[in-house]
Amino acid sequence: MEDKRSFIEKAAESLGFIKKLDRYKGVSQTDFTDGIPKLTEPGDLANFPPPEQWDNWVEYDATELPKRIKKTYSIIPTTCFNCEAACGLLAYVDKEKQRIRKFEGNPYHPASRGKTCAKGPATINQINDTDRILYPMKQTGKRGEGKWERVSWDEALEDIGSRIGKVLQEKRHNEIVYHVGRPGNEGYMNRVLNGWGIDGHNSHTNICSAGARFGYNIWHGSDRPSPDYANAKFILLMSAHLESGHYFNPHSQRIIEAKLKGAKLCVIDPRLSNTAARADYWLPTFPGTEAALFLSLAKIIIDENLYNREFLENWVNWQDYMKQKNPDTTPEFSEFIAAIKDEYKSYTPEYAAAECGIDAEVIPEIAREIGKAGTQFACHSWRSAASGNLGGWQTSRCLHFLSVLVGAVGTEGGTLPNDWNKFKPTFHDTPPPHKQWNELHYPDEYPLSHYEMSNILPYLLKEGRGKLDVYFTRVFNPVWTYPDGFSWMEMLQDKDKVGLHVALTPTWSETAFLADYVLPMGHASERHDLNSYETHQAMWIAFRQPVMREYLRRQGKEVKLTYEANIGEVWEEDEFFIELSWRIDPDGSLGIRKHFESPDKQGEKLSVDEYYTHIFNNVPGLSERAKQENLSALDYMKKYGAFEVNQTVINQHMTEVTEDKGIKVLGKYRQGFPTPSRKQEFFSQTMMDWKWNEYTIPGYIKSHVYWRGLDKAKGEFILVPTFRLPTMIHSRSGNAKWLVEISNRNPVWINTTDADQLGIQTDDLVKVNTDIGYFVDKVWVTESIRPGVIACSHHLGRWRRDQDPPANRWVMNTVNIQEKEPGKYTVNTVRQIERYKSSDKDSEHIFWKEGGVHQNITFPPHPDPISGMHCWHQKVKIEKAGTDDSYGDIFVDTNKSFKIYKEWLTMTRPAPGPGNLRRPLWLNRPLKPVTEAFYYNK
Ligand code: SF4
Repeated sequence: MEDKRSFIEKAAESLGFIKKLDRYKGVSQTDFTDGIPKLTEPGDLANFPPPEQWDNWVEYDATELPKRIKKTYSIIPTTCFNCEAACGLLAYVDKEKQRIRKFEGNPYHPASRGKTCAKGPATINQINDTDRILYPMKQTGKRGEGKWERVSWDEALEDIGSRIGKVLQEKRHNEIVYHVGRPGNEGYMNRVLNGWGIDGHNSHTNICSAGARFGYNIWHGSDRPSPDYANAKFILLMSAHLESGHYFNPHSQRIIEAKLKGAKLCVIDPRLSNTAARADYWLPTFPGTEAALFLSLAKIIIDENLYNREFLENWVNWQDYMKQKNPDTTPEFSEFIAAIKDEYKSYTPEYAAAECGIDAEVIPEIAREIGKAGTQFACHSWRSAASGNLGGWQTSRCLHFLSVLVGAVGTEGGTLPNDWNKFKPTFHDTPPPHKQWNELHYPDEYPLSHYEMSNILPYLLKEGRGKLDVYFTRVFNPVWTYPDGFSWMEMLQDKDKVGLHVALTPTWSETAFLADYVLPMGHASERHDLNSYETHQAMWIAFRQPVMREYLRRQGKEVKLTYEANIGEVWEEDEFFIELSWRIDPDGSLGIRKHFESPDKQGEKLSVDEYYTHIFNNVPGLSERAKQENLSALDYMKKYGAFEVNQTVINQHMTEVTEDKGIKVLGKYRQGFPTPSRKQEFFSQTMMDWKWNEYTIPGYIKSHVYWRGLDKAKGEFILVPTFRLPTMIHSRSGNAKWLVEISNRNPVWINTTDADQLGIQTDDLVKVNTDIGYFVDKVWVTESIRPGVIACSHHLGRWRRDQDPPANRWVMNTVNIQEKEPGKYTVNTVRQIERYKSSDKDSEHIFWKEGGVHQNITFPPHPDPISGMHCWHQKVKIEKAGTDDSYGDIFVDTNKSFKIYKEWLTMTRPAPGPGNLRRPLWLNRPLKPVTEAFYYNK
């Protein structure tokens, strides 16, 4: 065998710095545990420690090498909280120092399989953050004045709980809102909010993924794609955001796996992302034209008979479409094919190429690759085009059309509805659905919106449509992440609009600065959560557990509440909401307390162990697996951190069911899909019923930033603000020094030819003018963005004001904010990132200064009239910065943003729909009320 060791490796081996690299050569399978080599020596870091040694794992201290100092660890699994994927982590607790030393991947997690992205191990930075919030804090001055005092948990709980109790007694249910940024814990908050009887769930979905979700949902009642990349032959990604940026190390692994087996990859993105750089086809389409490309691919698949007739004929509601076209005849399938050929005849490759700004020749080539892959065609869209453009939801609808055409829905190597992957826990007690309808979340104008209209909340309050008496923000930073953050600041500073703002957060943020209470909640290793996501073709659960609590348990020490084991008094939401519910309803008269009582010990509070015991005892197969090791289901999860519930989840629509529960297909009653027709809905009666006749089938909507409307001579460009560097988290990487060391500026990407025309070079300052203001940033001149488009990643440009507590100093600039005239704000940087003294010596070694520029705050609201998605892309004008302009300068006029909100409102077609409905009954809501609440009673 060829010796591939480098000179340095050979030298390191011979000096004994590293182990022999070929030491596993000839090792027999009996020396392995579950495919992992058994390790016995503390210097051997080549693989994962075997679980039988997790309680007492010895390895050399890496910081002491070449001295061989042994360290003994207790290894405890948990899951990462730095994106939704919830990859498995192993926390190494230093037994001598009684604290977590590091995080690595958990090989027993079915999705992440021992791997993490950079953000997983950086959890250690977050828990050791020198600026973290350790105790409950209360604002003593005016909101935003920065006057904070430490309070006890008891005082905070009593104050908040009694206030909520009063609101409920006075029947002002819609004035209590829980607004979630980073979610977690399957079903937990729904149980809490139903227990309180309120329509109080608000989310960040419509600044995130509502567009893509709506496009999928209208097809088949599930709102996320779940591609089986590992078994795919052709993979098409609309965006790189998911794979190279935000989500899913588990996805990336499987895309690479497929590529190694010969699969081809096509990436559609105006920017050469990490994923696009590894693709076989990179199509840098003009933002907003993607649907035209997909319909062109569809046309070729139909014209060249590359479609899957059996799937189309049986599983698509083509008869409904034909009935609309020709109600008097019973159509043949062949007539349907002829009709859609006619429907999409204008989408020739030449038309799509001209529209998208790409080569025409490549379109038939890709269409034939998709046809060849057939049921093994996997595709994905998350943010990207679907979140950037007016009508962006049609892009994911048109993308899914390709999966439908080749029958790659729910197949091995195809794309599955995400619900098939998702584990739904059962609880020891399930409160009934609430009976409210909160019009601040679901206003009449947006009856089809894919979840709550959180992006227009400040304007709805400004219009006097309601108020919030108690407003929880949970790991949620709208002042910084949402468009027009100044309108959020205005809202949060107005006590008449928001009576009490409670920020549940692990770290200070621009939004937490404007809270009345800041209540510290744990990072990944400091809290309980249950996770289950659509990472691959399987169903799994994972247990995010507070590591030090479990460590103390292993040492035989009882911990009653998690904060006793955490640093300072950092708590977690599970226990917080149990405790708070008791304060809301101390004597049980509101009917709330009973849902938060122990199922076993009468009159006592529910404990987290009781809560999870019930859930895990009811996971199919888990108790049996646990018994093999003489463990309870809960202890198994505490030991391994994850469990694979189903190894395969394909073809569930084919499942045979009774007549009342299914649809007759291929001679049997089958489960089908959760749509009105129980089939894939090429034709949407829902769109017709709700007054959108022109969008009953997949189509192409021209974006609000449609490129032909731009005047380049005037410096007009499309700004793509939706991408993110893979090492960043929306607004929670500021406390992770390793991540900030890697990424600490967000220049505007501009193509070489555009830069030449404007006479600008890398690092020149430009002013980027939006419809409500501007920001000043440096540029990066690059070939990695298509001409006519500029892009700026959205995760940097954090700030604090002088009065705010020191926070996230690895990345937060100190700024001066002034309201020059009513609603007109300027932001100027007073101090850039500086070195500082702290318990962490690295804070004296900071070498970067800029910290990035906050762009989102300069964007107006653009709520899509159908999906409700905020349409992120901006038509901007760029110019060289003037002598008065400095890096990071911002100007915003909130009067203009309110006007734009009103303009976009005129595009809507408000409820009621058929039967006096507020919203179609079959469309989901995260916290669904009773059916009667869907109907107007006015
Ligand atoms: S992909 Fe990265 S950030 Fe997301 S859960 Fe996995 S390790 Fe954490």
